[in-house]
Amino acid sequence: MVSERNEETRKENQSESMRLQFESYSWNESFARVTVAAFLARLDPTVEEMEDVKTAVSEAVTNAVVHGYEGTLGTVTVEASIEGRKFTVSVHDDGVGIADIQKAMEPLYTGKPEMERSGMGFSFMEAFMDEVTVQSSPGEGTTVIMRKTIKEAPNGSDSPVN
Ligand code: ATP
Ligand code: MG
Repeated sequence: MVSERNEETRKENQSESMRLQFESYSWNESFARVTVAAFLARLDPTVEEMEDVKTAVSEAVTNAVVHGYEGTLGTVTVEASIEGRKFTVSVHDDGVGIADIQKAMEPLYTGKPEMERSGMGFSFMEAFMDEVTVQSSPGEGTTVIMRKTIKEAPNGSDSPVN
């Protein structure tokens, strides 16, 4: 009986958060992507909304690993929260930081052309999320904050579980 009541309270308020910290190994990109997806699943997103968020998280975490820490080991922190139907996810690294954020966010700009990067990571994040904010300065690390409102499912029956 008690657990049923807790479940009802959670659905009514729909305000909760999570935090994930891991080392900047490239394989942790999938760990972060899948974990955030599992957290997002409680909003009953469509398959498309789920894929959008997974792609955006994947791009931001890959940037933290590849550009922030440049192959050295550091801690990546991913935080996510749900308020009503508003989903927020942030990806933080304590790496090298970004000198010119506006330039870094331009489509096709990459600071590592020799690595055959396409310079489209930020463009994907902006295309797939409602809002992308970058906080960064050289030597101070980088935080990418992304927001997306998940539409109310008509009946919730077609929502992906994973
Ligand atoms: P792609 O994502 O297409 O493989 P990319 O990573 O170079 O290529 P973006 O993800 O758009 O392209 O990032 C653009 C540039 O911004 C990067 O090349 C890098 O110079 C800088 N940048 C992005 N994220 C970070 C970060 N966390 N720390 C330091 N620099 C970053
Ligand atoms: Mg990138």
